[in-house]
Formats: sequence, structure tokens, C-alpha cells
Amino acid sequence: MPAPFPIEPEYRIGSGWDSHVFELGRPLWLGGLLIPHAAGLAGHSDGDVVLHAICDALLGALAQGDIGSHFSSHDPQWKDASSSGFVRHALQLARHAGWSVVNLDANVILEQPRIAPLQAQIRESVAGLLEVPSERISVKGKTPEGLATPHTAIAQVTVLLYRSSALTTPRAAPHHNV
Ligand code: MG
Repeated sequence: MPAPFPIEPEYRIGSGWDSHVFELGRPLWLGGLLIPHAAGLAGHSDGDVVLHAICDALLGALAQGDIGSHFSSHDPQWKDASSSGFVRHALQLARHAGWSVVNLDANVILEQPRIAPLQAQIRESVAGLLEVPSERISVKGKTPEGLATPHTAIAQVTVLLYRSSALTTPRAAPHHNV
């Protein structure tokens, strides 16, 4: 039987989903980017539906609950808070356990504003938050055909994490029969 390779890659996949309702006069944050628009997303924090789904995807990959279990929507300290802090927290939890982000794929489902012209900026913003090259971040805009949700923004995110088990798990040296 061949000796086990001492460094085994480990992967974890996570998914996140969120929705928020548009409210006139609020600032619109998507993926940590402030977007000029007549309405923003309602919520206890800044309502950034994309970052909330990213946070949940990271926490899901770590099997460490969801955004609400870390940042209660009843806690006044998160009133109008920047959601980038939620993502940074989840990223720190991941890094503390030795995980790094391989890639992330986000779908943003809303009627307005159109995501296509903003896609590059949102990718850069998310990549900056996660401290990975933007080529590892995908942001796709979809229109909610048939969903009858003209005043709602939905985000769905998948993230893949990687770590080398050699960094986190002490292992005995491979045994060789001679
Ligand atoms: Mg949310």
C-alpha cells in the first residue's frame, strides 16, 4: 500500500442566499459598492444583499451558522452598519482555521439597476474585501423573469474554500517499509 501523501488538500463549499426590499431615498450598496440610484435596500444594516449572501456562503462553508447568529438584526450596534464588516468577520473566522478563498460566484437578481455596467466594479469591490484577485470573483446580473418581484433584490452566492491539512492537522511521518 503506498504511503499517504502527507499534505492533503481540503475543500469546503458554501452557499448563501438573501433578499431585501427597495426603499426610496436609501443609499444602494451592492457588493460593498455604493451605486447611484433612486432607491436603496431596506434592512437593519446597510442592506447590502450581495455581501449578506457572501457572508452566509462563507459561514456555510465553515458550518458556523449564518449571518443572523453572528450579527443579530435586533442589536443596535449593527443599525446601518456597513456589511463589509460582516464579510471581514466571516473571512477572519475562515483564515483562523486555515482556509483561503479559491473562488466565488454570485448571482444578483433584480430589475433595476442593470448589473452589467456595474459588474467590473462590483467584482473589484468584492475581490478587495476578500483579498483575492478579481479573476476569482464572478458577479452575474439576472432579471427576475416571472417572479413578480419588481421591488426586491435577491443575491445567491457560492464560495469554495481550500486549506492544506498539513497546516492545521499534526500528522505522523509516513511509514516506510524497507
Ligand atoms: Mg440580509
